[in-house]
Amino acid sequence: CGIVGYIGTQAATEIMLAGLEKLEYRGYDSAGIALVSEGELDRVRAKGKLRNLREKLEMQANPAQLGIGHTRWATHGKPEEHNAHPHTDTKKRIAVVQNGIIENYRELREELKKLGHEFLSETDTEVIPHLIAEFFSNPPAPAHAHIPSLLLEAVRQAVMKLKGAFAIAVISADFPDELIVVRQQAPLVIGFGQGEFFCASDTPAIVQYTRAVLPLENGELARLTPLGVEVYNFAGDRLKKTPRTLNWNP
Ligand code: GLU
Repeated sequence: CGIVGYIGTQAATEIMLAGLEKLEYRGYDSAGIALVSEGELDRVRAKGKLRNLREKLEMQANPAQLGIGHTRWATHGKPEEHNAHPHTDTKKRIAVVQNGIIENYRELREELKKLGHEFLSETDTEVIPHLIAEFFSNPPAPAHAHIPSLLLEAVRQAVMKLKGAFAIAVISADFPDELIVVRQQAPLVIGFGQGEFFCASDTPAIVQYTRAVLPLENGELARLTPLGVEVYNFAGDRLKKTPRTLNWNP
């Protein structure tokens, strides 16, 4: 239902919690965030209100400058903590949040199970981190020549297998300087700061940090690093994009 993400020079947790609070009005049943720092992926989730997540996070301050967060409105799988986003691969190196619905998740899940992937939720979302992980263990095709990042290529190849409407954000402990986002029939906007970049499913989540925004179009994915933002289509071609300035009267 609500997505936020941050990569940059500040601690990500508070930025993401504040962003998710701005999206609360949309409704949700659970929430969670994943953080990458010092080669580790850390995930905290909680059923119910964001203050439950906040309380859990206060017990373990994490200085990570890369993270993704989500408020979930369950479509597949009960509103329980184990179904809350972010979801991970079996090795817990990749974390994914998603809005929308993956229509062909049952088939994908069965295929992935046969390949040894372990599923811990009833969500449609969980196939995504496993598909990305599968790219790294069994690269299905030569990487697209123009794509500079293996994580971006892994996400691109995973996304090509998905049917449905979705917005996605991905981080990995093995790629500490990258945040990958995808838009397909569900909104996703990127925010541009000074050496820091944001993503969200809707602008209220990031407008307190930046007015320079780039809404992705359907069929686009982007790679955010501390140095900048690159946008591609699903075929892997780089697209030329410039952010626009929001007129915002709070
Ligand atoms: N379909 C996903 C789920 O049920 C995401 C729902 C949402 O948009 O929050 O977990």
